[in-house]
Amino acid sequence: MNFFLLPSNNLNQLLKNFSKGAKIFYPFSENGKSHIIEYNPEHNFEPDFSKIRTAQNIKNFFFPARGIVARFPAKIELRSNPIVLMGVKNCDLRGIEVYDRVFLKWQPVDHIYKERRDNIIIISADCPEPHDTCFCNFVGLKPYPEGISDLNITVVKSGYLFEVFSEKGQNLIDENKGLFIEAESESINERNNLRKSAIEKLENINKKRIKEKVYELVEKADKRTIREARDECVECFSCLHCCPTCYCFLLSDYKKGDDIERVRVWDACYYAAYARVGGGANPRSRIDERFWNRFQCKFNYFYQYEKFFACSGCGRCFVGCSAKIDIREILNKI
Ligand code: SF4
Ligand code: SF4
Ligand code: SF4
Repeated sequence: MNFFLLPSNNLNQLLKNFSKGAKIFYPFSENGKSHIIEYNPEHNFEPDFSKIRTAQNIKNFFFPARGIVARFPAKIELRSNPIVLMGVKNCDLRGIEVYDRVFLKWQPVDHIYKERRDNIIIISADCPEPHDTCFCNFVGLKPYPEGISDLNITVVKSGYLFEVFSEKGQNLIDENKGLFIEAESESINERNNLRKSAIEKLENINKKRIKEKVYELVEKADKRTIREARDECVECFSCLHCCPTCYCFLLSDYKKGDDIERVRVWDACYYAAYARVGGGANPRSRIDERFWNRFQCKFNYFYQYEKFFACSGCGRCFVGCSAKIDIREILNKI
């Protein structure tokens, strides 16, 4: 393990140094909630790495809600600006794990995603105080990262304890060596205790785990179970647009001057036209079928492909749901 301690007073200088070569985004807390903001040395917005995940997810950095993916006959330039994304929580890292499978491992490789992914340095952070909407442990995750990001921060009494996960992360530490001091065992023990306590808090919030072979239960769910699960749904689609693991998109072509542009936008499987094909046939024309597709996709199909769930337990779908439909309750009932 590779630990470095950044004394609290050195954080501003570290942000200034990072900002010389990249845009920096980090969580800022206001009225008990945290949001992602861009670093601006003229504003005094202190990062808050200790809260739970930010209200919005980080998907837009990797896979924008709207983006031009091709131009004819001219070509698009594959270029993205370097970004340092700080304070990312483990549930949002699960989203990146899902995108990496979909856009890099599954063929063909998405070069637009790859370009952005390669240019983003991810600095994650522990969650010492899980909220009652958090259920990362329900789906088998911990309230702290153990990889995927480049560096991880735990806020300890003497400052910020950094753990290195990648070469990119190590390079960042090396470039700013003068700001860090050697991490002593006291800080590492403090981190271990904070993590133990976070797990205990989550255990109290979610006493149950996802059921064994949940993919079979999701696949075999009968019409009545599905109808009861979606009974209160008002089709607002918030659960899909706020989800850090949803990756569906729609392509459309537009004329722009002498060129044709192909535009990619986020799609959502609850839209009535989502699965419609030429001639108007629709295998999921009823809302019950579309509602259950979310469960099939996250807990059955994706699990069958990759052996992990395409749900991170971030709780955004429940928090944003007009009908307060809690995915945990549905999975516990089937
Ligand atoms: S779901 Fe887990 S990882 Fe995500 S914010 Fe809550 S405690 Fe942190
Ligand atoms: S389904 Fe809900 S809890 Fe799971 S990742 Fe998506 S928004 Fe988060
Ligand atoms: S957020 Fe809730 S009400 Fe809206 S579509 Fe999703 S389940 Fe239905």
